[in-house]
Amino acid sequence: MKQYIGAHISVGKGYEDMVDRAVAMGANTFAFFLRNPRGGSARALDEDDLAKAYEKLKKHEFGPLVAHAPYTMNPAGNKESVLAFADIAMSEDLDRLEYLPDSYYNFHPGSHVGQGIEKGITLISEYLKRMLDRPLKSTVLLETMAGKGTEVGSSFAELATIIKNVDRDENLGVCLDTCHIHEAGYDLQDIDGVLQEFDAVIGLQYLKAIHLNDSKNPRGARKDRHELLGEGEIGWDSIISVLTHPKLRHLPFVLETPQKTEKGYGNEIAELRKRSAN
Ligand SMILES: [Zn+2]
Repeated sequence: MKQYIGAHISVGKGYEDMVDRAVAMGANTFAFFLRNPRGGSARALDEDDLAKAYEKLKKHEFGPLVAHAPYTMNPAGNKESVLAFADIAMSEDLDRLEYLPDSYYNFHPGSHVGQGIEKGITLISEYLKRMLDRPLKSTVLLETMAGKGTEVGSSFAELATIIKNVDRDENLGVCLDTCHIHEAGYDLQDIDGVLQEFDAVIGLQYLKAIHLNDSKNPRGARKDRHELLGEGEIGWDSIISVLTHPKLRHLPFVLETPQKTEKGYGNEIAELRKRSAN
C-alpha cells in the first residue's frame, strides 16, 4: 500500500489549485488553513471549486486531509473575546469542511493562561461538546503539544481526560506531532514503548493522523521548534520507525517542517518514500 504523505500547504488560488499543487509535490494528503491562521475570516465560499477539488482528491486516491485550525484559537483562554473567536472559528471551519467529507480538523487544544490545567481541561471539554453537538462528516483532532508555557495537551493523560469528558467517539480523535511529543519528553527512539503508552492511556483507535517533524531541541525541552527531517534531535532512524510502524502505516502523515518552498516539501516527501521504500 502506498502511504499517505503530504505537507502543510497554503490555500493559494483555492481548493482545486491546492490539490493540483499537492499532486505536483508527490503528496497524497495535505494540511491547510480554512482561514488566515493568525485570525480573520474564512475565504468566500466557492462550491464549484470545492466540488472540483473533491473530485480530484478521489481521482488521485488521496487519504484524508488534515485541515488546521488557526493558531490564535484558544478555547481555554480567560477573555470573552478569545472564547467567542474560538467558537466562531471552529463552527465556521467545520461547516466548510462538510464540502470535503471524511476530512480531519486538527487543533491545538489551548493554553490555560494561568487558570490551571484542570480549568483548561474543563474549558476545552465544554467547548468540544458545543462544537460536536450536531451531525458531522469530519472528525476533530486534538493535537499532542510540546508543553510550551501553559499549553494543555502535552501528556497523553490530559488528552485522554478531554476525550472521556466529551464522550463523542465518532467525531473526536488525536493527531500525534513527533516534534511536540519529543519536546514534551516522550522517547521516539522507543516508538513501541510510546505507542504502548498511548494505547494504555488514550487508546490507539483514537490516533487518526501524524504530524511528522524533526525538532531543533533535545527531548523534554518544551519549546516547540520544528526542524527539517533528519537535521534535528529526532533524526532519520526514529522518523522512519514512526512512518513504517505497522500500527501507524495506514494514517495520513503531514510534514510541518521549516521548508521555504513547495519544491522543498516535494524533496522531503520523495526522501521519505525512498527511505521507507513506498
Ligand atoms: Zn503539529
